This record gives sequence, structure tokens and C-alpha cells, in this order.
Amino acid sequence: MPAHPATDGPPRLAVIGGGQLARMMAQAAVGLGVEIRLLAEGPDVSAAQVVRDTLVGDYRDEVTVREAVAGCSVVTFDHEHVPTPILERLDAEGTACRPGPAALVHAQDKGVMRERLTALGVPCPAHRLVADPAEVGAFAAEVGGFPVVLKTTRGGYDGKGVWVVADEAAAVTAFDAAEAAGVQVLAEEKVDFRRELSALVARSPSGQVAAYPVVESVQRDGICAEVIAPAPDLDEELSVQAQRIAMTVAGELGVTGILAVELFETTDGRVLVNELAMRPHNTGHWAMDGAVTGQFENHLRAVLDLPLGSPATRQPWTVMVNILGGDHGPLSENLYAGYPHVFARDPRLKVHLYGKSVKPGRKVGHVTAYGDDLAEVTERARHAAAWFTGELGEESE
Ligand code: ADP
Repeated sequence: MPAHPATDGPPRLAVIGGGQLARMMAQAAVGLGVEIRLLAEGPDVSAAQVVRDTLVGDYRDEVTVREAVAGCSVVTFDHEHVPTPILERLDAEGTACRPGPAALVHAQDKGVMRERLTALGVPCPAHRLVADPAEVGAFAAEVGGFPVVLKTTRGGYDGKGVWVVADEAAAVTAFDAAEAAGVQVLAEEKVDFRRELSALVARSPSGQVAAYPVVESVQRDGICAEVIAPAPDLDEELSVQAQRIAMTVAGELGVTGILAVELFETTDGRVLVNELAMRPHNTGHWAMDGAVTGQFENHLRAVLDLPLGSPATRQPWTVMVNILGGDHGPLSENLYAGYPHVFARDPRLKVHLYGKSVKPGRKVGHVTAYGDDLAEVTERARHAAAWFTGELGEESE
């Protein structure tokens, strides 16, 4: 029995978290005629600017979360940080949490995720939970020596909470950070990778799955900078394997909504899972303009247990470039001022701005270009993003 039978008319869907992902979910919800009830961190955050029915409050507070989901049959998320016990109680009482708490823990805790994926036979980097620098040394000796990668099991994002360490002494920083945050340290072999890939699937509670083409993501300073769809020159077998991994993980963990599986393509031709995200993901933004059904619409269809839309590409190549807040010039403050130039230069360009104040390095929007020729599409997308950040001025025209 779906949480909300279609015969009852459009549901009210609660979304916890008011970032750009919730904002773009709201955009898809408008098209579908579905109303969103938002729990936002502040009155002016990205999604709160566009969702009429917004409650401002703390997602860690059970009373607040209950108030936000009251009258909604389904709740979904902009981020993975709502405490598990709150979700367990809501789920038990009949508010469908999608994804549910049992699945979400694998996106919250890298130690739990590694253990489960390994048990499922999903290829991951060699890894171990470590208690002190001496254990890091012992782990390094087993995986061919330093450097190794250390990660806090919980709370990391955009490369924060990840350290590449050259010896035991350097490991102290990671243990200090983990202790301060009350979490553990996970050691991983430092993977020799050619590039990073991402495999996105949408999965509905009924078990229908839509798999997007595997994409290449280019990371800079731990932040996703660019995504190329599909990943250029990706071996067909590896592509199928990456999609299979994503479908296996979604099915075995019981994920509902979008699952993003971040992968390494190793220099010796394997794919290994790096991370999981159980929500729309930066590596799926390209699909808003480059696929028949964008990830935000498919996320909503999935969590509402509606049939999923086609994830097929519309054009041979789609390139998405993030607009990161810059400190290069006047445009970096007023992004709107970039429109006359980028729209005049490229009528096929698509721009998405998140309504966020501009701070250096902060994701404030993205641009998408698509077409037949990868080099040309890449140039168009990069040019537009650089124009918004102020890296390009009139003289570079
Ligand atoms: P976050 O949760 O902050 O996104 P990730 O686990 O994705 O952290 O790691 C951030 C980046 O660090 C990755 O995109 C990758 O470039 C690098 N990295 C992470 N794990 C490894 C590893 N085992 N080997 C090599 N590089 C890694």
C-alpha cells in the first residue's frame, strides 16, 4: 500500500533542510503540482525563498521535525543529518521516511557503509576503523605503505574530514578532529585513480529503478567542479558495472529516492565505491537540462511511489559546471549581472542560481551546456561559469 494513494489527490510532501537541493526539488514539485512543506534552517535559506509553506527550525529537534511533517504522508531530505532515532519513531508511526533510517545510516556513517558494502561484495578501497596512529601505521604496512587516507566516519562533506597522511605523526590531526566531534576514524588505502565517476539511480518503494548514464565528476579542493555526462571514453563494461553497483546498493539497502554512488576509476581499470549519497546529488544536476527526466523530478516521483521518468540523455554530451562564489570582481557579488553576457553569447546555455549569498568557494549556482561536440560544450559551460565568478572580464572576450 503506497504511503499516499494517487486516488487521494496530490499529497503534501515534507522536505527537511532548506539548501539548494530542496529548492530544486520545489521547482520540480511545482511542475508536478505537488505541495511541499519545508523545514528550513533559517527564513532566507535557498529553498525557504521559494517554498510558501516553510517552518524555520532545527532538524535535530524532534518536536520541530514533528511539527514540520504533521499532515504530510511522506518526508524526504535535502541532507542526511536528521538524527536516526527521530526518523525511526516517525517511520514506526506511519510517516513514510524516504529514504528510511535503516538506509540513511549508510550515507551518514562511512564505517557502517564500508562494512555493509564489503559484505555485499561491492568493490571498495581497502579500509579499517582505526583507534590511534599506531593502528594507522599497521594498516599502512598492510596496504603497501604510506600515504593513506583518513576520514572521520561522520560529519564530513566537500573534502572536510578527509586527510591524506604521510606517516603516523601526521595522523594525529584526524584523531583530534574525530575526538572533538565524537566520531571514529576510518583508514583507507590511497587509491590510484584515473578519475572520479558517479552512478545515479532513482528507486521507488515498489522497487522500480531508473539508472542515469554514468558521469565523470571533476573535483577541485574536495569540491565538485564539473560533471561530464556521459563519462567520456568509459569502457562499456565498467559503465555497466558501475550502474549495477548502484542498483545493487539501492536494492539491498532499500534506498528510496535518488542514490548517488561516487566511484573511483582506478588506473588499472577497476571501479571502487568511494561514497554514497541518498538524495539528489551535485553529480546529477546535469540531468535537469540534459536528460528526459531530471534527478529532482525522479526523486519526487520515487519518494511518492509514482512510475519513474526516463533517465536517457537528450543530447550526446552535457557538461555542468558549478558556479563557486569568487572574489574576482563586481560580478561575484551580483550574479544576475552575468546574465546579459552569458545569455547573449550562448542562447542554448541553461543557468540555475540558488539565491545564496556569495562567499568564496561556496556553491551558488550551476550552468549546463549540451550539444554534439564535447570540446565545444565544455568550453561554453566553463566560459559561463567563469564569467559569473568574475574570473573572466571584458578583456578576455
Ligand atoms: P566527502 O565526504 O568530504 O565528500 P570523500 O570521501 O568523498 O569526502 O573524499 C573527498 C575526496 O578525497 C574524494 O573526492 C577523493 O578525491 C579523495 N579521496 C577520498 N578517499 C580516497 C581514497 N581512498 N583514495 C584516494 N583519494 C581519496
